Amino acid sequence: MIADNIRSVEKRITEACERAGRNREDVTLICVTKTMPVEDLRQAYDAGQRSFGENRVQEINDKFPQLPKDIQWHMIGHLQTNKVKYLMDKAVMIHSVDSAHLARAISKEAVKAGRVMDILIEINAAGEESKFGLDYDGVLSLVKEIAPLPGIHICGLMTVAPYTDNPETNRVFFRNLRELAVDIDRQSIDNVSMTVLSMGMTGDFEVAIEEGATHIRVGTAIFGKRNYAV
Ligand SMILES: *Cc1c(COP(=O)(O)O)cnc(C)c1O
Repeated sequence: MIADNIRSVEKRITEACERAGRNREDVTLICVTKTMPVEDLRQAYDAGQRSFGENRVQEINDKFPQLPKDIQWHMIGHLQTNKVKYLMDKAVMIHSVDSAHLARAISKEAVKAGRVMDILIEINAAGEESKFGLDYDGVLSLVKEIAPLPGIHICGLMTVAPYTDNPETNRVFFRNLRELAVDIDRQSIDNVSMTVLSMGMTGDFEVAIEEGATHIRVGTAIFGKRNYAV
């Protein structure tokens, strides 16, 4: 089942890339495994997937030791500073940085761990009250403020677009995110590259790819509906 779902998601990714004149290799599929049992992650792994996304540190901590070491773990959820240290030996990228306070905590722990952590700045693209992330106006000043910190590399932007039945309504948010990345890139700030655009989920990943997503985060289309009751 999971393998079939992955095949069908892969096909849709390939087709979206073709429509957009992009290479399939330029889009990373992050399988969003939050709430899913380790057996499901293993099925995705056996189907060839190597990039997994979790939104809680506790879940990464639990699952990490039970799975092969060549998995790339992405932290995609809101993050508390006191949990940052647990990610240093596990995550390849933190997608959800939306404050200088958090960036400083990541910097401190990364230096302690002797590594550089790739981070993305999370933007609340539609200005939804329920969502984390910065508004567009706050981004450049945050980037400038945290760019000099040791132990982090700012490599792009991330957004969680509104839930919608019509993915076309999110196109404008993906386009805005891309334009913002281009604007920031033009500033040529040291230690900042805007090569990663993490956008697009089950409901809208094809539109996100058409608008330039380099990383899509897909859960439901691969693993089915999440059960938050358990
Ligand atoms: C849960 C989650 C996803 C995946 O959502 P689906 O609609 O199930 O594909 C993507 N990004 C973030 C930040 C998430 O929390």
